[in-house]
Amino acid sequence: MLCPQQPEASPPHAGGSFKSPPDMHVHTAFCGHASGTMEEYVLSAIGLGMMEMGFSDHFPYPEDFTDPVGGCVIPRGDFPSYLSNIRELQRRFHGRIAVRTGVEVDFLPDHLDAIGRALDAVRLDYVIGSVHWVNGTIIDYSEEKLKSALGELGGREGLWRQYWETLEKMVQWGACDAVGHFDLPKKFLSMRDYPMDMNAVDRILDLMARKGLVLDVNTSGKDRSRDGEIYPSPAILKHAARKGIEIMLGSDAHSPQQLGRYFSDTACLLRSLGWKHCVSFQHRIKRHHAL
Ligand SMILES: [Zn+2]
Ligand SMILES: [Zn+2]
Repeated sequence: MLCPQQPEASPPHAGGSFKSPPDMHVHTAFCGHASGTMEEYVLSAIGLGMMEMGFSDHFPYPEDFTDPVGGCVIPRGDFPSYLSNIRELQRRFHGRIAVRTGVEVDFLPDHLDAIGRALDAVRLDYVIGSVHWVNGTIIDYSEEKLKSALGELGGREGLWRQYWETLEKMVQWGACDAVGHFDLPKKFLSMRDYPMDMNAVDRILDLMARKGLVLDVNTSGKDRSRDGEIYPSPAILKHAARKGIEIMLGSDAHSPQQLGRYFSDTACLLRSLGWKHCVSFQHRIKRHHAL
């Protein structure tokens, strides 16, 4: 696709005059599966011309949830240090870049009271809600793990059906500002020969529009999904644009080098679909940025 401001496909980090919109989906080494110091992430954002960025590392699991995998989220005892590190970076880089305090929370339908209480106990700029667990299976951890659980989930069809049901419940829940990587099950399952259930997609997008939830346009899919496609797919984005849903950009960086990946091309796609702005958050309030 041709873009008026970027005539050629750009590499993951396009140089030149492109001023990057805020990257609001960024992890840290606290979660146990990301690398680099938090300062390196901020410096990477500044290097890309961002005026704002947000850390959104994996929120600790509730006490009554037994994590069968390990190393997926910030351990509960480390969460205060995550927050104080962000506060320190906010002070140090004040005037150069605004650093927001966010989390990516796992939607676990049987633990919502505990998760809600834990979220209420901290002052956050925003919460990304994500469905990584479908009926007891973590769907984005490894291809082997997903494939071995697929029979129990009712195959591909069963997985997608339960994923949409769970995602819809999360949107209803009301504790999140944004919906993370909307069509995550495609990470290890190609969609090339499989029809997306657009009825379910539309139902959830309509609900998001009513509740004012923001869509995380997550560029990690370019590197990490089977079909090399962002989350959500351009087909879903078209529907979201028509419904007037607001978007934020997220690289889902797990290393400082991944920050802002593919943002230039993605901003171009989003503009072509009609969006003029993306959002960031401060104290749970949307802030708008030109795309
Ligand atoms: Zn992660
Ligand atoms: Zn995620």
